Amino acid sequence: MTQKKIIVANWKMNPESVAEAKKLFITVKRSAKKYRKSSIVICPPSLYIQTLLSFPRGGVSVGAQNVFWEPKGSFTGEISAVQLAKERVDYCIVGHSERRELGETDEQVNKKILALLKVGITPILCIGEKERDHDAFYLAHIKDQIKEALSGVKQKDLSNILIAYEPIWAIGSKAKGAIQPEELHQMTIYIRKVLSDLYSQRTAFNVPILYGGSVDQSNAEDIMKRGEVQGLLIGRASLDAHVFTDIITIVNSVS
Ligand code: PEP
Repeated sequence: MTQKKIIVANWKMNPESVAEAKKLFITVKRSAKKYRKSSIVICPPSLYIQTLLSFPRGGVSVGAQNVFWEPKGSFTGEISAVQLAKERVDYCIVGHSERRELGETDEQVNKKILALLKVGITPILCIGEKERDHDAFYLAHIKDQIKEALSGVKQKDLSNILIAYEPIWAIGSKAKGAIQPEELHQMTIYIRKVLSDLYSQRTAFNVPILYGGSVDQSNAEDIMKRGEVQGLLIGRASLDAHVFTDIITIVNSVS
């Protein structure tokens, strides 16, 4: 698969002020300009989206962290895919484990994906198991997450979706650390097998698979090279401009 590597920053509920968000965004943009082999997507809190989009694009896209499936109406606190599209948001994270933990279901994830595809926003579908078991029941869980999230998604639309494999046990400050690249490679093969059973082998092969969970400068190269992924979804390490730009440099050096 020859395509640009994709690096997604999930800022979650950080930083605390729009001034800090601007500073971080500008620093990342400045360094991203030097690199041609990767696409950078910054997903800030929705409150900061318009401010960040007011800067000239320059190789960095802005994404949302969540969306609601209805186009408009009485849904307090929600933002629709139509509204995001009107603000020229290009990507949106869907089904992050932290949202699933708050009660988001596969059915809701599916509705969000369909709503985003309708308006031309690329969903970044997060999937991942809580833990691994010796009998590999976690594989059935991954398969169900994919099947349910993509229910009703047409083959032609699959090329507009990114899949982010984020094992929950590898995410966040309490994680045991990132996945081993070999285990990740096995999982990418499995995800493509599930996709090729649902669609065609060729379609499955063209879906970019990203990895997320405790990525930093020490493991980014190995994960990209030996994990056989097309990009990274980064939480904590995306909040430090220097660390994040180091990771961009590393990803661009991986052939
Ligand atoms: C995430 O929560 O999506 C994530 C990848 O977090 P971290 O990089 O901090 O493990």
